[in-house]
Amino acid sequence: AGGSALDAVEAAVRSLEDNPNFNAGTGACLTTEGNIQLDAGIMDGSALSVGAVADVQLIKNPISLARKVLESPHALLVGQGAQQFAQEKGISLCRLEDLMTERQHNKWKAATSPTSADEEKHGTVGAVALDTFGRLAAATSTGGILNKYPGRVGDSPLIGCGFYADENAAISCTGDGEDFIRLLIAKRAADFVARGDTARDAAQAAIAVLGAKATGTGGLIVVDRLGNVGFAWNSRHMSHAYMIEGMDEQITGV
Ligand code: ASP
Repeated sequence: AGGSALDAVEAAVRSLEDNPNFNAGTGACLTTEGNIQLDAGIMDGSALSVGAVADVQLIKNPISLARKVLESPHALLVGQGAQQFAQEKGISLCRLEDLMTERQHNKWKAATSPTSADEEKHGTVGAVALDTFGRLAAATSTGGILNKYPGRVGDSPLIGCGFYADENAAISCTGDGEDFIRLLIAKRAADFVARGDTARDAAQAAIAVLGAKATGTGGLIVVDRLGNVGFAWNSRHMSHAYMIEGMDEQITGV
């Protein structure tokens, strides 16, 4: 409707953060200590402006805090400083109970057993968009990995790892963060688009790199400057949905 890609990805991720079924914002997973530490990142490809927060607590919508960081001189704020920044920007702290769902609490209790399935640990959210002015944007938000070590930060708030946007493509990732970090999966996918791949081919090529070079699994969503949509994953599932001009309804899958 003529709005900006940046506003669109922030709004989409906010609504997913507020949905208790996803591991981001409300419904995020717990650390080994039973705490909730959130990570999020957002990028405007047209300006190459970026904002991210890591290891933040008691923030209902970390993506909107990341957006405030994008609008500041900083690129990434962590922990206590990020929370101070939130308060300076008028974002008030919520309670731990506002973020914690019974489902995640139960999963955390069960996670001490070594039989907990790896696939149960995920649920990161993300969005990518291209607007009518040709601007691309990407956003990712997560509670991280269930039973993570306190202070552990994954790929989601790290530029080029869990999200990236430039003039060619916008990318958001989910999966085993440590592998996405060492392989710079989001930036790699952007580079594949820059060399001429479509969004679809770039997504598949990035997952092929993940499969060839690491044992971790995951997936990514991509939109390119022509509005082509791509997604690929080598984990068991990756819920996804997209809508492009001319479509009456979104296409969804898991
Ligand atoms: N990538 C996230 C992390 O490692 C987790 C996920 O996407 O499921 O923190």
